[in-house]
Amino acid sequence: MSIKFHNTLTRKLDEFVPLEEKTVKIYSCGPTVYDYAHIGNFRSYVFTDLLRRFLKYKGFKVIQVMNITDVDDKTIKRSQEQKVSLKEYTDRFTNAFFEDLKTLGIERADYYPRATEHINEMIDLIKRLDSAGYTYLSDGSVYFKISQFKEYGRLSRVDLANIKQGVRVDLDEYTKDDVKDFVLWKGKKEGEPFWDTPYGPGRPGWHIECSAMSMKYLGETFDIHTGGEDLIFPHHENEIAQSVAATGKPFVKYWLHCSHLIVEGEKMSKSKGNFFTLRDLINRGASSKAIRYLLLSTHYRKQLNFTKESLNAAHAAIDKLQNFYQVLLDHKPSNNSDEPFQKALTELLGFFDANLEDDLNISGCLGYLFDLMSETNRFMDSDILTQNNKNSLIQALHRIDSILNILKEPEKELPEEIKVLIGQREKARKDKDFKLADEIRQKLKEKSVLIEDTKEGIRWKILK
Ligand SMILES: [Zn+2]
Repeated sequence: MSIKFHNTLTRKLDEFVPLEEKTVKIYSCGPTVYDYAHIGNFRSYVFTDLLRRFLKYKGFKVIQVMNITDVDDKTIKRSQEQKVSLKEYTDRFTNAFFEDLKTLGIERADYYPRATEHINEMIDLIKRLDSAGYTYLSDGSVYFKISQFKEYGRLSRVDLANIKQGVRVDLDEYTKDDVKDFVLWKGKKEGEPFWDTPYGPGRPGWHIECSAMSMKYLGETFDIHTGGEDLIFPHHENEIAQSVAATGKPFVKYWLHCSHLIVEGEKMSKSKGNFFTLRDLINRGASSKAIRYLLLSTHYRKQLNFTKESLNAAHAAIDKLQNFYQVLLDHKPSNNSDEPFQKALTELLGFFDANLEDDLNISGCLGYLFDLMSETNRFMDSDILTQNNKNSLIQALHRIDSILNILKEPEKELPEEIKVLIGQREKARKDKDFKLADEIRQKLKEKSVLIEDTKEGIRWKILK
């Protein structure tokens, strides 16, 4: 079996073959840090997490970059309204974003470059485009001349019939009706932050940052670029234009786009009152694992309808899976006869592989997981699950959960005071002062922390 992904560039399922045999390089468009990210954004980041975890599961080394857009129309406007510096304002929401990723059990990318820290790389790229004849200057801003780039429109398949020479657009986000020359470098405006450059003072347009930062960390051609489908035009179309025009090389081999999320059947909007950040849902009592499950369980290319019922169903599914896992861990097999359970297990892993290799068909995997759970419950009820089979099943579940990350609740961070006590006890043990070590263990127990010494080191458990 080979891995297949739906490639927006070809509009079909393409066999996935990375440029380097064992390494996959991924660029994922990240957040504009002007506010808390909403659940529609997180659908896209959970999809990227699934992709990343699956490729690692298949034995690839993954190098992933996600940009942080910390300068644009929105961040500037909001920071000015709040009368704080752009950096102070965007730092606050960058940190909130990282906290949210942790809440959702999303693995960290390898690099999170910030746009404001890569102005030189952007200017270098603009210089290359300039000397290759793809740019022009107008009113202090630099624009990309799209009629000069013959492949423009290949990704988004926009209608190029209406391009007018020299008609420009200054906005970062615009629609397909606006196929115009887009801005690379925006001339300085009164009261806005700016950088001095050979093209005059100003600030970068949005698109140039992704081309400059992806190529800096991943090279001029890399494997996978991800993002929400709303980024196909103009953002990704413009990224391709800037990168290919500068290097003369293909930019990205596979473009993977995640479909929209709607809420209760409607487009999410603040005016309709159906707009949710992750924090809104957690504050209303939703569990982070249930939200993760809900965002994960619909195939990434299908529209996801986020409803109260679907969130309830996700809670029920997570409860069922986590309870099952705990019952399995606690189960004491008394039977040693071999039952045809091993076959079901091998099938489980095989089924997981085959479905995820098929453009990340997660729904198929989850269905199978619930079937296996019922089967195992039947075996445990009739006391015909052997110890060997139990061990193999637990191993298989761990392997699957390295992708899903839903079986176990995240471990609580220990309070500082407890960490200090554990450190003191470790030291006492090293000094062979076992009396003191025991006293500290007792103290920890009074604070509901149970310490176990194992071959792999110490383990702790919070008593309920
Ligand atoms: Zn981007």
